[in-house]
Order: sequence, then C-alpha cells, then structure tokens
Amino acid sequence: MPEPRLNQRFAIVGTFVHSSNEQSLLTLQDHCLGVANGKIIFLQKWDEDLLTLLQEHNILPESVIYLKERQFLIPGFVDTHIHASQYPNCGKGLDEGLLSWLHKYTFPVEAKFADLEFATETYSKVISRVIKNGTTTACYYATIDTDATLRLCDIVDKAGQRAVVGKVNMDQNSPDFYKEETTQSFQNTIRYVNEVINREYQLVKPCITPRFAISCCMDLMKQLGQLARSHHLHVQTHICETRDECTMVQKLYPESKSYTDVYEQAGLLTKKTVLAHGIYLSKEERETIKKRRSGISHCPNSNLSIRSGLLDVKGCFEDDIAVGLGTDISGGYSPSIMDAMRTAISTSNTIAMQRGPSYTPLDYKDVFRMATLGGARVLDMDDIIGNFEVGKEFDALVIDPKAAGSVIDVFENDSIEDVIQKFVFLGDDRNILKVFVAGRDLSEKSCVEPLNIS
Ligand SMILES: [Zn+2]
Repeated sequence: MPEPRLNQRFAIVGTFVHSSNEQSLLTLQDHCLGVANGKIIFLQKWDEDLLTLLQEHNILPESVIYLKERQFLIPGFVDTHIHASQYPNCGKGLDEGLLSWLHKYTFPVEAKFADLEFATETYSKVISRVIKNGTTTACYYATIDTDATLRLCDIVDKAGQRAVVGKVNMDQNSPDFYKEETTQSFQNTIRYVNEVINREYQLVKPCITPRFAISCCMDLMKQLGQLARSHHLHVQTHICETRDECTMVQKLYPESKSYTDVYEQAGLLTKKTVLAHGIYLSKEERETIKKRRSGISHCPNSNLSIRSGLLDVKGCFEDDIAVGLGTDISGGYSPSIMDAMRTAISTSNTIAMQRGPSYTPLDYKDVFRMATLGGARVLDMDDIIGNFEVGKEFDALVIDPKAAGSVIDVFENDSIEDVIQKFVFLGDDRNILKVFVAGRDLSEKSCVEPLNIS
C-alpha cells in the first residue's frame, strides 16, 4: 500500500462499514472514498468512471489504495474512558472492589507520575498500545501532576492521536501522598488548561477531571464547573460505579438529592461531559443527564473485573442517553475497544438472562456503533468523527480478517456481515492493518517502543 501523508489527497477503493444515527450497521461494497487535508471529500459507488472522479478531485491514480478481497474499512475506535496513568497495573490487582482497589493499587501507581521520566516512558507505552489496537480518539485521565499531564499531551500529539486529556483533581478522602490542597488544585488546573491551549495542538484538547465526588469537595467542583462552562471544555468524572461508592456520596453530600445532583449542583453537567459507568443511576438521575445532554461511558470489562455491576445500556438508549465504550484501564484489564465490544455484549446477555425473554440484549451491530459513532457522540465530536460522512475527518482502520496470525477463519460462503461479526467477536490488533487519524497514517508509529520526545 502507498503511504499517504497528512495534507495529501488520496482515495481508498473497497468495502466500507460504518454506522449512522438511524442504522447501526451500513455496509458499502465497491465504493471509493476520497480524502483531502485529512477530511472526507467524497464517498460513492465505484464504477468505470473512477478516473474521471479522481481527476475531478485532483487525486493522482498512484494515490489510490485498493483494499484486497475481504479487507474492509471502518471508522476509528473511540475510547471514552481510559486512565493512561494506570497502565502499569493493567492486567493485575483485580482482587479488590473499587474503593479499596483505589487505595491499594491505583493511588500508589498514580503518585509515581511526579517523576517525569517514569511518566514519559509509561505514557509512551500506553499510547502506542492503544493506537495499535485501533483507538483513534481517547478520553484520558492522567494524574494530579500538571507537568506529567502536559507530557502526556505532548506524547499524544506526537503520536498523532485525537484526544481529550485531563489533569485529575483530588482534594479530599485521598492519601496524604496523593492529594492536593483545594486552591492549589484549582490553580494547577488553570495553568494546565492555559498551557494546553497555548501549545496549539491540532488534535489534543484539555479536559476538566474531578476524579469523582468522593475525592473533591463541593467548592472545588463548583470552581471546576465554572471553568469548564466558561471555556467550553470537556468534563470527565465517575458516577454510580458501585453501591458502596453511592452510599458514601450520599453521606458526604446529604443536601443533594442524588449522586447526579451533586454534579448538577456543581455545574459540571454539560453536553461535553463524560460520565463513566452510571450503573446505579435512578430514573430521575437519567432524566437530568438527558436534559444536560451529557454522555455515559460504559466500561464493561472494568465493571466485571472489579465486580462493580451490570449497566443496562438498552435502558439508557430507551431514555435517549448517549452511551459509548471505555476500556477503563486498569479497572478493565484490556486496552482494546474490541474487547469492550465483546464484554458489552456479555454484560447485556447476562441482564437478558436475569430479566427473561422480553429483554432484547445488545447485538454486534449495536456495540460496533457504540465503539465508533456512539463514542463520538458521548465526546460531543459526532460532527467531526464517528463515521464516513462527507466533511468529517478521516479517522479510520483498515481491517484484514485474513492478516498474518489472525484467529479469524473466513469461509467462502461467509457474507460481509458474517465477516464483520467474526471481527467483532474474534478480532485483535493483528487484524488492524492501518490506523488513520485526520488522514494521517499512524500505523508505522504503533510500535510498543517508547516514542522519542525531545
Ligand atoms: Zn475510571
């Protein structure tokens, strides 16, 4: 394959698979998609007039990528909730429930990021790993350390990934070795936001990140909410992940009607707000979230691994709430959104077994949309990314079900839908041949070696 670069004009010919608001799965065979300046300029059926079409759009015949038989193109994956700083713990320490897990495993590892060398090495590894797994956009939690979080932004920018990145705020109910003083926490956040804006990254944005209501006081959350709204910034936090956590929030904020009401009082709920988990939200709380147009990040691997609970995604959809997928490293042990698709189906099947035949669980098409367009909607980026609509930026993955080492066996009579379904259930990073973000091919950078950051 040729190696198109940013700002180059190129086209891809083959099968395209994506979603729309109306349909969870659309397959377009024998189509041609054109890209210029990182954006999709056309997508149409490929016929004998291909040359004329290319000429019209100023695309040279040598800048056309022809997908091979059974290969197909999908939108890049959106990971709506990932703690980049917890990557060293990925795949270990899953023997505790949330609140004790945080103190035993998570806070000690996050505290290490005050060491910039450790931060650089670790963040480089996680970014390389998730890009290799097809994550073209991510919503990252870093740590409370401002400089280390800025380093994460530099690494993401250099790798070419699209991201919102948050410096974490924590000023209460946290260990002395990993905690901020309230005023300092807010001042550091202002410095962080200004610095990210000044660095003028093309694809990296700052995110306001109060860890959760337990670890931030109301004063701090109100200041953060004000900052987010005045600068139109993304907000990310956790909500209703476990029952113990909900009980503790109720005790800490007796004046609030509910967990959601704590964030509502703080002014943290906007259409740019990502709420991780949301398993134990009441009907009334979901109404508030819908009203504010905030989104939910469903992290099924994490919810099963630290035994938090089962999110009823179908119920959220019925309430017209946007739900995307998150890996939630390292409560979740997999850095792959492909794993999140499968565990979302397992979670939904479990709910179906509990509720009986009247409950229709999520299917492979639903989770495919959640991994792409759904995630984009949760991040309020569905006008820029999420599918192959003309005018959107070209974030895409070339999938090869027959790639070297693939565990997918394709049979002659398998339809395109069969192959997509097999990819959803059996695919891994070996099936992802190319990773494009804003038209730039990141595949060559997706090694697991640390990137050189000067
Ligand atoms: Zn989390």
